[in-house]
Amino acid sequence: MGYYSPGHPERPQRIRFTLERLRGQKGLPITWREPLAVELATLERAHSKEHIGRLKAARYDFDSDTAAHPGIFDHARRSVGGGLQALKAARAGEIAFSLLRPPGHHAMRDRAMGFCYLSSVAIVTLEALATGVESVAVFDYDVHHGNGTENILLNKPNAAFYSVHQYPCFPGTGTRNVGNNCFNYPVLPHTPRLEYRKVLSQALADLTRFKPKLVAVSAGFDAYAHDPLAQETLEAEDFHWLGEELRKLGLPIVSLLEGGYSEELPDLILTYLKGLEAK
Ligand SMILES: [Zn+2]
Repeated sequence: MGYYSPGHPERPQRIRFTLERLRGQKGLPITWREPLAVELATLERAHSKEHIGRLKAARYDFDSDTAAHPGIFDHARRSVGGGLQALKAARAGEIAFSLLRPPGHHAMRDRAMGFCYLSSVAIVTLEALATGVESVAVFDYDVHHGNGTENILLNKPNAAFYSVHQYPCFPGTGTRNVGNNCFNYPVLPHTPRLEYRKVLSQALADLTRFKPKLVAVSAGFDAYAHDPLAQETLEAEDFHWLGEELRKLGLPIVSLLEGGYSEELPDLILTYLKGLEAK
């Protein structure tokens, strides 16, 4: 997790400080596991061979936000492996959260962008479907639209995508539903938190009607009121509430870290996990 660009908000400290916070608390018992190894074929369900080749070469920056760091393919693949380990744990009945970077939900089938290289959540979804889970819903509450996940899961049988995000905002998509399985809930900047919660509730109600057997969560913490990259209004307790609402679905839940760039990120993650555990 050591790669970084000076001044970039998606920095190693996001994970390091969260690890310290989670290891230093006693209220929530946590079992730590390492990422699983990831086969190329698993990645290729979601991404083109050309895209994977470009990540391996890492010759040119993918855009001004998404640098070609040395070894970035291995970092991104490890992040996918964390998602797969979390999937395994969720299927075994555990509350599972993958605490790794880079995030993934902006990575498209054929393009890295927005700090993202491989769409971990889409890869986890397709892995679950390929290994016996009947239907999988992705719930993306990162403040940015999960355009990469949408791009990869569009019209895929037995998969559905629900994204609540600020619009206008990066990446500028997600204003309407797409295909037969991608549902978008754009929210204006500075929307009061109780209204924002109502939209999250609506998305979860719609997701329930899809009757998924497993929910993969793109867990981003940048709709937080003090996040530097967006203009929304959620407070720490709203992430606890989100965890509780997801728990109430009574389904296996696998969460993968996406964004969240405030100094309070470690506390927001802990409070979300407590919500998931009803603590
Ligand atoms: Zn984000």
